[in-house]
Amino acid sequence: MPGKFFLYKYEVGDVVKMKKKHPCGSFEWTLTRVGAECKMTCNKCGRLAVMDRPTLEKSTVEVKREESN
Ligand SMILES: [Zn+2]
Repeated sequence: MPGKFFLYKYEVGDVVKMKKKHPCGSFEWTLTRVGAECKMTCNKCGRLAVMDRPTLEKSTVEVKREESN
C-alpha cells in the first residue's frame, strides 16, 4: 500500500471544490496550508477550516489551479 501517494497534489493557493456545500452556499475553498492537516478558507464567506488530508481528499470533487498557459 503506497502511503505517501495522494489522489490530489494540493498546493497552497489551489481552489478546492467540495462535495458538500458550506452553509454560506459556496462549494469552493482556497488552500492556505497543505500538510498532514490542511487549512483552507471559504471563497464566499472567508471562514477558516482545518481538515486532515484524508478527509479533505474524500471531500474533494475537483482541484482548480491557476496556471497561465
Ligand atoms: Zn462559506
